[in-house]
Amino acid sequence: MVRRRSTRRIATSPPPDPPYLWSSGKLVPWAEATVHVSALAWTGVSAVFEGIRAYWNQGEEEMYIFRLQSHLHRLLDSMKLMRMSSPYSPSELTTAIMDLLKANQVREDTYIMPLAYFGGSVPGYKAAYQQPGEVLITTRPLASNARSNRGSHCCISSWVRISDNVMSPRAKSISNYQNSRLVSTEAQINGYDAGIILNPQGKVAEGAYACVFLVRDGVAITPGVTAGILEGITRDTVIRLFRDVLRMPVEERDVDRTELYVAEEAFFCGTYFEIEPIVSVDRYLVGSGRPGPLTRKLRRLYQGIVRGEDRGYTQWQTPVWHSS
Ligand code: PMP
Repeated sequence: MVRRRSTRRIATSPPPDPPYLWSSGKLVPWAEATVHVSALAWTGVSAVFEGIRAYWNQGEEEMYIFRLQSHLHRLLDSMKLMRMSSPYSPSELTTAIMDLLKANQVREDTYIMPLAYFGGSVPGYKAAYQQPGEVLITTRPLASNARSNRGSHCCISSWVRISDNVMSPRAKSISNYQNSRLVSTEAQINGYDAGIILNPQGKVAEGAYACVFLVRDGVAITPGVTAGILEGITRDTVIRLFRDVLRMPVEERDVDRTELYVAEEAFFCGTYFEIEPIVSVDRYLVGSGRPGPLTRKLRRLYQGIVRGEDRGYTQWQTPVWHSS
């Protein structure tokens, strides 16, 4: 197969800043939310965050936040693993996110990022046991990837996934992302779109920023929650769609890298990537080398659900503008 360079484009002009962010209980004008430069170096060490998407439904003139409660649950789990107590309950954080989206007049596909960190003058690596965290929430416009159907050319990374007894991948901690970054930059420098990372046992863990699925002989397969993955909310959504809608068996189990080479279909899934076809791994074509039929079907189903068009999943759809 001909080696091709990655054609993924890097956005050059960021969208304009929103009017407000939410910081420790208050809506703060964007430009006034500053910290002293000396806080930069160590603050992030124990910070944890969530990446949540909200989708604009034009027909209903409504925004739907996708699986908000699952994301807040995971945020609190991540804080707990950092031994950071939360001053805010899930319902208070829900209100904060709703208030912020309304203050920012958000009416387009958006990324919502709550970040929990040790504030004050205590650097993150020294923060005391059970000290409460601070929470900051920002929103940014982020269009869905639904229209792109090209698929990712991937490699198996030479980097190894962090593990539960080192830095738990189960926490969505800022520090863990150095591992992901090494994987994705290595892949791109070597002409691939994305990297897939193996755990210390040599089994497939996940992509740099997304979980991995493959299909073999009519069975959907994904690495289990002890394989060194972030317990993905999209992964859970996809498992349910495979079982409940596509009526296919799903196996959560160890996955060898060569299973990806011989898979009929494979894809990444995550809040940011949504469902992104994997079309080759280490230059082995996955299936026909084009997004497979099940992957395409899942992408359509997923878009209907996240955008609030499919009303079979209202428990996952939090409306913003017409909420009571
Ligand atoms: N793994 C990693 C390392 C990630 O950063 C993400 C994105 N949050 C995922 C998996 C997918 O998780 P989710 O579906 O909850 O976004």
